[in-house]
Amino acid sequence: MDFELSETHQQLRTMVRDFCTREVEPRAIEWDKEERFPKEIVPKLAELGLLGIRIPEAYGGAGMDTMAYAICVEEVARVDGSLALTVASHNGLGTGHILAFGNEAQKQRYLPKAASGEWLAAWGLTEPGSGSDAAGMRTVARREGSEWVVDGTKMFITQGSVGGFCVVLARTAPEKKQRGVTAFIVDAGTPGFRASKHLEKLGMRSSDTCELSFEGVRVGDDQVLGEVDRGFIDTLQILDKGRISIAALALGLGRGALARAVAYSKERQQFGKPIADFQAIQWMIADSTTELEAAALLTYRAAWLADQGRPFSKEASMAKLFASEAATRACNRAVQIHGGYGYTREYVVERHLRDAKLCEIGEGTSEVQRMVVSRHVLSST
Ligand SMILES: Cc1cc2nc3c(=O)[nH]c(=O)nc-3n(C[C@H](O)[C@H](O)[C@H](O)COP(=O)(O)OP(=O)(O)OC[C@H]3O[C@@H](n4cnc5c(N)ncnc54)[C@H](O)[C@@H]3O)c2cc1C
Repeated sequence: MDFELSETHQQLRTMVRDFCTREVEPRAIEWDKEERFPKEIVPKLAELGLLGIRIPEAYGGAGMDTMAYAICVEEVARVDGSLALTVASHNGLGTGHILAFGNEAQKQRYLPKAASGEWLAAWGLTEPGSGSDAAGMRTVARREGSEWVVDGTKMFITQGSVGGFCVVLARTAPEKKQRGVTAFIVDAGTPGFRASKHLEKLGMRSSDTCELSFEGVRVGDDQVLGEVDRGFIDTLQILDKGRISIAALALGLGRGALARAVAYSKERQQFGKPIADFQAIQWMIADSTTELEAAALLTYRAAWLADQGRPFSKEASMAKLFASEAATRACNRAVQIHGGYGYTREYVVERHLRDAKLCEIGEGTSEVQRMVVSRHVLSST
């Protein structure tokens, strides 16, 4: 058993950390306050390979593995959860769906533009009436001549208004339920497709989250992604890998908050000594360190299994469940260690706490992860 990251992965971590310290950390507080998606950082993310992490070099990507994907998301999250959500969802969901199930023409058309940042990817599964029960979607695509006509509404879609395209899941054979859903790629600007509402949020405030409307949106067969009626089955695979990235995102937020809490506890003096000298503070630091180390092991193991081509669905859910809840606890402790200052917008830890909460909800809530894990366990014993 080898617990060391490879040299390549360690170098990647250093490179992304340096970039984030220089380019992201100084601005993240303003982006959050302004609740504005920072378009200006997109070309820099692309230059570093962060928008085509797993896209093969032949399509302009960095051609790296799932472990690299997890490390990149973790490092961005240490300083900015919102930007990490962009990196995670762009790579894992919209682009990841095309990478896994697109035909050659679709890969040629979309992947180079995704890797260069010219087109950010959105991915629409959730609807106003269906979240955890994603198969209960109402969006439909009906056949009209040689085209498909998509009608419906998608909810909480990341990159909803800034995406260059959206992979959207729609019912194509309602009577077949989960086996009657198809994925389509819809380009921004297609008549009838628009971001109908921008959503204001507790955290992840500079990530773009929208309600999307599809009103008589016409697409050809060339925009069908994967096989007709297999979209939901394919989606389960996309979500499995996505969960590794949300686990990594949570890990980064937790580790970022912990590092700040440790530094602050050494500087802040009360009763004539640094608060780090008090056992109550030491125990909070010990608990967060231990829980985040456990979260890292679960997350990297899930990524490693994925890279070995082995089943990783249960492991991805366990990693996401544990890492997201551990991150919320670690960020909450970090605010506590900062006292009143931790409750102000001047210190990063309150933003990390608000951002971490999303990790318990997005890409399947903690309750859904517990359902996935227990189903695996109960069906294998
Ligand atoms: C910031 C943000 C970004 C997002 N980005 C995207 C995106 O890019 N694309 C996309 O498609 N979606 C996206 N989502 C949607 C996200 O995946 C859903 O919010 C999530 O899956 C939960 O669905 P819901 O909000 O409808 O909650 P619901 O499903 O209504 O759940 C409400 C509560 O009931 C619980 N619950 C539901 N069913 C059960 C059950 N069977 N047993 C026990 N408890 C249950 C849930 O755990 C939760 O606590 C995003 C959400 C947010 C907030």
